[in-house]
Amino acid sequence: MNIIFLGAPGAGKGTQAEIVAEKYNIPTISTGNIIREALKNGTEMGLIAKAYTEAGQLVPDEVVIGIIKERLAKGDCENGFILDGFPRTIPQAEALDAMGIVINKVVDIEVPDEAIAERMTGRRVCPDCGASYHLVNKKPAKEGICDACGAALIQRKDDAPETVADRLKVYHDQTEPLKGYYEKTGKLEIVEGLGSVADITARVIKALED
Ligand code: ADP
Ligand code: ZN
Repeated sequence: MNIIFLGAPGAGKGTQAEIVAEKYNIPTISTGNIIREALKNGTEMGLIAKAYTEAGQLVPDEVVIGIIKERLAKGDCENGFILDGFPRTIPQAEALDAMGIVINKVVDIEVPDEAIAERMTGRRVCPDCGASYHLVNKKPAKEGICDACGAALIQRKDDAPETVADRLKVYHDQTEPLKGYYEKTGKLEIVEGLGSVADITARVIKALED
């Protein structure tokens, strides 16, 4: 199954993408994680992306489209994949179609803007492996330490309250129109994104198996 997760930043799509990926045994592809990894390694792509990401803006379409093309060509995507954070603009969705990629389901996780700010300020990430946590909703077993690899957790620069408002604006202007785009294909499933992680997962699984 080829699945797209849509939603505002902080709506929990990354968390759900990882849970579903494990359940269906398919890879989850997060453009945000790939970009952060490039930033950390100081690659050419990382250098291009840095200013955009830190300001809460989108990285140019041609850059992320290139990332996705390369990633989807790998063998582990043959039996399906989950896209977390791509597409984020109409041209990105069109590029995916142009690659001949068939999408089976698009899950849009909806969280009101008012709830987003609180989620973002509580978010903590692992600088080494990219795992994501939350101070209240998704605590690691040991405070401040990554369950997966033991590194000390940090707050992402773009999760600072000043940047969150910009990211929400970018979401409404550029990403939300994708709902209409996929609505027309009949593949859009809207999932209420408030509640516990387990509750939301149950809704997501139901939407995927409908
Ligand atoms: P979140 O977890 O808040 O949804 P991501 O980790 O997916 O955010 O993305 C973080 C940043 O990486 C974005 O603000 C943007 O700068 C960049 N980015 C990720 N995916 C894309 C994309 N598909 N198009 C453009 N920029 C992207
Ligand atoms: Zn880690």
